[in-house]
Amino acid sequence: MKTTLQVKLLPTSEQHTALLDTMRAFNAACTWIAAYAYHERCASKFMAQKALCYEIRQRFDLSAQLAIRAIAKTVEAYKRDKTQQVALRPDGAIVYDERILAFHALDEVSLMTLHGRTVVPMQMGDYQRVQFSRAKGQADLVFVKGTFFLLVTLDTPEEPPMEPTHFLGVNLGIVNVATDSDGNSYTGTPVEVVRHRCGRARQTFQATGTKSAKRRLKKMARNESRFRRDVNHTISKRLVAHAKDTKAALSLEDLTGIRDRMTVRQGQRNKHSSWSFKQLRQFVSYKAQRAGGPVVFVDPRNTSRTCSRCGFVDKRNRRSQAEFSCLRCGHHVHADHNAARNLATRGAVKRPDLVAP
Ligand SMILES: [Zn+2]
Repeated sequence: MKTTLQVKLLPTSEQHTALLDTMRAFNAACTWIAAYAYHERCASKFMAQKALCYEIRQRFDLSAQLAIRAIAKTVEAYKRDKTQQVALRPDGAIVYDERILAFHALDEVSLMTLHGRTVVPMQMGDYQRVQFSRAKGQADLVFVKGTFFLLVTLDTPEEPPMEPTHFLGVNLGIVNVATDSDGNSYTGTPVEVVRHRCGRARQTFQATGTKSAKRRLKKMARNESRFRRDVNHTISKRLVAHAKDTKAALSLEDLTGIRDRMTVRQGQRNKHSSWSFKQLRQFVSYKAQRAGGPVVFVDPRNTSRTCSRCGFVDKRNRRSQAEFSCLRCGHHVHADHNAARNLATRGAVKRPDLVAP
């Protein structure tokens, strides 16, 4: 599987200008290609290359290979959404491949620009150095707040497949973001605190409606999404580590459940205040894959009202958000833990070679 490594570039001021000029030309070319792709209904890289390559080189001063990359990037974007002409930012990423990029020893990278190749120093820490042995000859050049970075594609070997002995079910919820069938809860008060704070601040700004309020709303949305991403990374990492330590395969609810969950509670419904469970599932999934552990997705219907000990299903088993108490056998347990155990059992049904705890 592929991952990326972010490396900061340390160009001289001339190199900085050359890279920026190249980036502008590359994206100007992309915009021009986008108009062509849209009007000609062209979703074929090959056809676009044949029609445009020469003219792109003349118009935008790009090398043949950079022109080909610009066509590839734009046609891909057009294929994703054919209903409108793709708009590209002037400082959007340049996609480099091994023909126009080469890593040199001693922390340097050779990059093709409008004025030929230039060798730019890279800032490398110990972590980067270790990871770099797996770098492939592909990278995106990006420009963030005045600094150039390379997002280098790494070839990440998957670990040998783990031999799981049972399933670990994972319940996703609004109050506890994730709870596993061993009873571990993966969340923290900070999540709840930030959510409330953002919700309240948003209401205030929305009521104001001025330009600066809109700006602050946008900024807040960005911060919030970064925060969610961080928390999802942390939770997925801990979950997968626990599964690996206990030799468990993971059983997660499929997307139908997540959609249902979102409609359960009034007020949590808008997309800003809902947790991004979809992202969390993705993170768990790829981290587990990398660690060699299987993941299955199961239908979560009724997992919250089914007794994980005797299988009795009744809405009233669930006394409150947190409390589960079986009307038949008297099993008393935290509601999220109970649901997670049911998910583990359902995972085991899907994969009968593995048993639920
Ligand atoms: Zn029961």
